[in-house]
Amino acid sequence: MKPLKDLTRPNIWSLAPYSSARNEYSGHTAHVFLDANENPYGNPLNRYPDPLQAELKKKIEAVKGIPADYTFLGNGSDEAIDLPYRIFCRPGIDNVVAIEPTYGMYCVCADINDVEYRPVLLDEQFQIKADKLLAACDENTKIIWICSPNNPTGNTIDRQEIVNVLTRFQGIVIVDEAYSDFSRERPLRYELLKYPNLIVLNTMSKAWASAAIRLGMAFASKEIIALMNKVKYPYNVNLLTQQQAMKVLDNRFDVERWVNMILQERGRMVEAFAQLPICEKVYPTDANFFLARVTDAQGIYDYLVEQGIIVRNRNRVKLCKNCLRITIGTRGENNELFGALRQYK
Ligand SMILES: *Cc1c(COP(=O)(O)O)cnc(C)c1O
Repeated sequence: MKPLKDLTRPNIWSLAPYSSARNEYSGHTAHVFLDANENPYGNPLNRYPDPLQAELKKKIEAVKGIPADYTFLGNGSDEAIDLPYRIFCRPGIDNVVAIEPTYGMYCVCADINDVEYRPVLLDEQFQIKADKLLAACDENTKIIWICSPNNPTGNTIDRQEIVNVLTRFQGIVIVDEAYSDFSRERPLRYELLKYPNLIVLNTMSKAWASAAIRLGMAFASKEIIALMNKVKYPYNVNLLTQQQAMKVLDNRFDVERWVNMILQERGRMVEAFAQLPICEKVYPTDANFFLARVTDAQGIYDYLVEQGIIVRNRNRVKLCKNCLRITIGTRGENNELFGALRQYK
């Protein structure tokens, strides 16, 4: 890896961040707070929340095994996807490389930040060789995006190839593990100390059943986390979200139970879907959804909409012609889907 300073935009490296009242005084001994122009009435939402979410990060450490210094929390993964562009990529000059097809936000954020986005096509098994990703890089490539398990394909990307990218690429490698709770693969976040250029993304939106509260995580070296904390909005994770996230993290056995039910349903659905006359192929999945190639994705999608059932039509996505992406629902919801599909002509 190049020195972090050389990878970082000069204005960000030298940035003096906004210093909030809650930053300047963060001790717990005081009891009269007249420093932040807050309203003294309306407890507890009258107070600004902890800008670095110390209490929540302690709970996340207990569950995810990553200490607070190595953890960034943001307004969904969306924020953790956007920040690396703003930290590392000079608009109009630098570029990023990503697997294709993958999650759409990496490209949208590149476009918003005026950063060239270089997609590299997966093979027919939705896998990629490190050589192919590295061949797309030049001296202005700052980030390589890998999503594993990948969305919308559902498969885990070969770990050896990811490790090859991590060891050979001189810039930042971001591995989005939004779906790792549904996979048997050991999460890459445990390898942070081995790879100083690694950023791993996690989210509360999928296995943790909390898409509404908008809480995303990035795990990386202390130095990268410090940059992210410097650039983020001062109070980027609101108090209600922090409190609700702590509640959910206290109920991790619920989450384990939900994940197990989803995995059981996944097995059942993948098998049953393959038997449908409309099904041409069900792709292997390590996530809480599966991708399937069908006889007529658009027709089946429209038909299901009429039945009040919404799946994701990926027909226009590269390598996904005539593919639908189907999220695993409750047993009842899944049965409704199959009931409708068996009636399709
Ligand atoms: C759903 C998903 C996320 C979650 O995004 P949030 O902003 O945290 O809700 C992140 N990455 C991928 C690949 C996803 O599919």
